This record gives sequence, structure tokens and C-alpha cells, in this order.
Amino acid sequence: MHIENGLRSKKILLVDDSLLTSKMVSEFLNANGYETETVAAGEEAVQKACSMPIDLILMDIELAGEMNGIEAARRIIKYRDIPVIFFTGNTSQDIIDKMKEVRAYGFVIKGMDKALLLSTVEMTLNLHEANTQTILFNRIFENFVNEIYIFDAETLKFSAVNRAAVKNIGYTREELHTMTLLDIKPEFDRDCFQKVLNRLSSGEQQQIFHNAVYRRKNGSLYPVEMNLQLLNYGGKKLFLALAVDLTERSAMKDQLTKKESMLDAIINSAQDAIVILNSQGNVTLWNHAAEQIFGYTREEILGKNLHRLVGMDEHTFQNSFEFFRLAGAKNAKGKTIEVKAKHKNGHELNIEVSMSFLKIMDDLHCIAIIHDISERKRAQEELINSRKQYFELAENAPIGIILCDEECNILYVNPKTLEILGSPGIEETKKINLRTFPLLVQYGLSNRLDECMQNNELGIFEMNYESKWGKKVFLRLHVKPRSDKGKVTGAQVIIDDITEKKQMEEELRSLSLTDYLTNVYNRRFFIRKLEEEIELIRRRNRGTFSLTMLDVDHFKRINDRYGHNVGDQVLKNLTYVIKNRIRKADCLARWGGEEFVILMQGTTVNNAMALVEELRESISKMILTGVDSVTASFGVVEYNAGDTVDSLIQKADNLMYEAKAAGRNCVRC
Ligand code: GH3
Ligand code: MG
Ligand code: MG
Repeated sequence: MHIENGLRSKKILLVDDSLLTSKMVSEFLNANGYETETVAAGEEAVQKACSMPIDLILMDIELAGEMNGIEAARRIIKYRDIPVIFFTGNTSQDIIDKMKEVRAYGFVIKGMDKALLLSTVEMTLNLHEANTQTILFNRIFENFVNEIYIFDAETLKFSAVNRAAVKNIGYTREELHTMTLLDIKPEFDRDCFQKVLNRLSSGEQQQIFHNAVYRRKNGSLYPVEMNLQLLNYGGKKLFLALAVDLTERSAMKDQLTKKESMLDAIINSAQDAIVILNSQGNVTLWNHAAEQIFGYTREEILGKNLHRLVGMDEHTFQNSFEFFRLAGAKNAKGKTIEVKAKHKNGHELNIEVSMSFLKIMDDLHCIAIIHDISERKRAQEELINSRKQYFELAENAPIGIILCDEECNILYVNPKTLEILGSPGIEETKKINLRTFPLLVQYGLSNRLDECMQNNELGIFEMNYESKWGKKVFLRLHVKPRSDKGKVTGAQVIIDDITEKKQMEEELRSLSLTDYLTNVYNRRFFIRKLEEEIELIRRRNRGTFSLTMLDVDHFKRINDRYGHNVGDQVLKNLTYVIKNRIRKADCLARWGGEEFVILMQGTTVNNAMALVEELRESISKMILTGVDSVTASFGVVEYNAGDTVDSLIQKADNLMYEAKAAGRNCVRC
């Protein structure tokens, strides 16, 4: 290799105090293709050499100024690598020694043959260039990042190694000079190695590459890629071994393989299909989940067009694909679309595709992550259907249904509610807040709704309701709080219009004649009977009857002491005792609570008194397990002309209270 110094002609600095010599020499050199620069003094020479490109200096020793040629050369060489040839008439040993000291390339004796001058100049320039290149190559050799081993073809011993080699192999240069490549290449035997080298020596091959393992001084091994070449160095055969340490490269490769297998594991264990397409939309990667979802094996689908095969809704898919392709990889953010596709067996699939694009070395790849949402879709549809069914049920229900949130704002109201409440329309009704709507506050519903929601309790209420338009209804309301994880989120109110039922109950009650507990006649029947009796006597203008009123003494105590059920039983027993004693024609009725009345036809007060006294005694002797004794107080009156139902009852009541006042368990008439 030769490093060109450019095409410019060489410049020579001529230092001589003799103008004549300078002129003569410079003319001669110019005629031979050199540029020249002339100075007369040493100081001037130093200044010139340091400020302009000079290829060679021809230096006279005896100079005009203070500084002689030797001194000037010393100074110049200190700063610049310029070859110096002395130009002298004096060749004494002393001068020659001094010239050597400043590392002069040579000297020319003044007045000698000009051809000699020219050949000395040329030789010096060549020599200097050779030196420069040697230094350069040495530097490259030493500082080369890879290991260089140069060894003798005969002995195989290392003759030169660079710094990288020394550093990595761990031996000193001295140690290496006594070693061969076989010492650091443990797996290689000499015969084998010789055969390889012979191929180079014979010229059969220019260079040989092979992978090997080197052993460091400390015993550790490292992989290298070796390049062997033959060198001719001054007639001597040398081999050059260039070694590239592959440790890092193989570590990187290991890591890459590790990452690859990790990625492989992730891709194949993913629940979602992971698919990679090239820019034509053909499949280049198809994971296990993709096989499961679509039914195609890797072999069946690799290299084929995805949407043609799985029948994805081509329009949507192609659009997204195109959009990303045009936008370029940089703008290709993931986009999720829902499309329909086909399983290999023809079944329709609902899938969700998240696409992203990746540009690797000018190739666009589409990465699609596909999630099978068929199950989700089905569940969603089912939910919608069942919601529709419930909605229809509520819309057509013969009862009012209201749903409200925790603030009692109406969320839903069905048509029947509007009919029952006499509300004008759904939209207006929906604006009602059940807690503050005046009409509902007035009927106490708001408070009860609040109570139910606060206690998370079912509440059943009945109320009379009159709508704004004057419609009167009797309602039964079921208030059921709705809750989520124990927290009340609202309520459902079911409204049953029981107006007709109530009316029927009322009618039934008016038809009945007897008391539900004791089965004796009720007050209404008794009054009618009394009216009939009075009317009969008045019409006949003869006859009489007695009226007795009785009230159980301290009945409250019985209830308090034994409970209401026992109280009821006492009342039943009491009527039983009385009914057994009186005649068929007499009439016993429950006036109310623990008060009873008896009408005895054709009976004077005296006769009645005797019977009542008997009744009083029987009652006081009545046996009822657990209860001490029961007594009653009686008032007895006889009909007199002009008496009415009210006057008779009033009199009997007064007498009965007299009996109470007299200490109870007695009769007054
Ligand atoms: P007095 O001797 O002054 O009559 O005392 P009393 O406790 O009987 O007086 P009061 O009239 O204050 O109490 C009547 C009680 O009878 C009150 C009420 O709870 C009870 N009572 C009314 N009807 C029934 C019923 O059908 N069954 C039962 N068990 N108790 C009733
Ligand atoms: Mg009473
Ligand atoms: Mg009483």
C-alpha cells in the first residue's frame, strides 16, 4: 500500500549564506521539477520550516547569523518531521557526529557532482516517505481493535502481536515470542494446522477463514473468527492471523435466541390469536390460539391471504389495513375493530381485531391480535332479549310498576301506573320525584318509601288516593328496595288498585248478620231486630220486652295478664253460657268490644231480672283454665210506650254503669 501525498511538486528549503551557491543550486533543482525556497540565516530557516509546507531542507552548516545549520536543524526537527540534508565543505569527524546527533538523512559535499546531489535528494525523499508509512502502519497494527498475530512460517513462533492480542490473550509480548498459535488454540493439532498453512504457502488459497477457540493465559476460552494469510516480508515467509473475538457476538446471539424462544412461548400460550401479515395481507405468523379460533393449522394458512380464507368482512378489514398502510408505520397506532369471520367449518365467528403496523427495513408488517367475542355477543344478545321480555311483561302488567333510583327519581313507570294514578303521560310522570311530589307526600307514601329504603325492608301499605282530576281509588302498595352489595340503589313500587275488592268487602260486611268472633248477632242486626220489636208492639198496641246490657268487668286486665287470645276465648265462652240459658226467641248480640245486649221478647223487667241474676252467677262460675274468674255488670230495662232504640240503649247503658259504680258483678234495673 502506498499513501499518495498529492500531485503537488516537492518543495525544498535551501539554507545558504552564499547567494551564488543558493542561486545555482535552486536553478538546478527547479530544472529537475522541484520548487525551492531560499533563506540565508538559521533563524529564518526555523521560521520558514515551521510556517509553510516543506518536504526537504538542504542546510549549509556555516551560516551568516548567530545560529549555525546544525542548531537550526535541531530546532526544526523538534517541531516538524522534515528530512534534513546538510550541505557542507567540512567533513571532519566532529561535524559528522553532530550531524548524526540531529538525525540528518545525509550530507552532500559542496562543489560535488550535481547528479549526486539530485540522487541524494530523491533518495532522502523516498526514505522519509517510507519511514512515514512504516510509522503509520505500525500505529494501525498496534491500535487495531481486533487481535493480530504474525508468526514465522518455519517455526510457527510469534514474531509480532498487536496490543489487542496481548490484552485479550493475557500473555506478555515476551512470552508470546516463545509460543506458537497451537499454544493458544487447544483443539488444533499440528498436522492439521500445517495442512491449512500449506494451502496458503502453495498459493492454492489467498486467505482462509475459520472459527476457532482461543485459550487465555488464565485458562478461559473464547470463540474467534480467524482469517489466515501469507505475508512475504523481505524474502521471509510469515503468516498473519487476524482474530475477531466472537464472545460478544455469540452472547448477543444467545440472548437473541433466548428472547426468540421466550417470544415464541408467549405467542403460543396467548389466549388471543396473534397473526402477522405482510403488506399483501398474507399470513406470516399464526399462533396456537389462531389455530383454535379459526380451525386452520399453521401449515394450511401460512403464506395465504387472511381475509380471503377466514372471510372477514373484507370491506372493514381492508379499509383499516389500507388506512394504516398509507399512514405509514409511524402513525400506525393500534386500532380495534369488530368484524365477522368464518371458522374453517363454516361457522360464523364474531371477532375483535386490534391491528398495529410495524416497519422493518422498508417492509410493512401488520400485527393483528384477535379475540373471539362470539360468546360475549351471544350473551349480550340473550341479555337484550331477556330485557325485552321483562320490559314487555312490565308494559302489559295489570299492576302499576314504578322503578326509582336512590334519590327517588322515577326511572321507569308502566302504562298501568298512569291509568291507576290518573296521570296524564309517561314523560310528565317521569319528572316526578316520589319523595317530594306533593300528592304522594300528602298520602304519606314519601315517608314510607324513605323508611323502607333506609331499613332496606319490604313495606306494604294501603291508602285512599284521589288524583288531580278527582279520580278516587284504594291502593295497595308494595315498596321493595333494590340493593347492590347491601347498598340500597333505589326501589320498585308495585301498585295494586284494590278499589273494587274493598267495595266488595264492604258490601259483604253489610250483608252479614253475625259477629265474626263470637258468632252471636252483630250490632246492626240487633238494632234492626229492636226496631222491628218496637214497631210490632206499637202496631198491636200491647205486649212488652226487656233489654239487658252487660259489660265484662276489668276485661283489660284479662287481656293484659293472659293475652288477647285468652281474652277472645273468654268472650266466646261467655256468649256460650248466655246462649245456653236464654230462649230461642230471645236475641243475644255483641254491641261492641266486651259489651253485649240481650232482647227478651214478652218479658217483664222482673222476669228478666231473675234470669239475668242467674246469668251473672253462671258467668262468675265459668271455668276457664288459667283465668281466675270473670264477672260482668248488668243493666236491665223494660220497654215503655214511647221508647226508641236510642232511649232504651241509653237507659240500659246508664244502669249498667250504675252497676259498675256499685262495685261490679251485679245487676241494676
Ligand atoms: P271495666 O270493668 O270498667 O269495664 O273495665 P274494663 O277493663 O273491662 O274496661 P274497658 O272498656 O276500658 O276495657 C275493655 C277492653 O276490652 C279494652 C279492649 O282492648 C278489650 N277488647 C275489646 N274487644 C275485644 C276483643 O274482641 N277481644 C279481646 N281480647 N279484647 C277486646
Ligand atoms: Mg267496656
Ligand atoms: Mg269492661
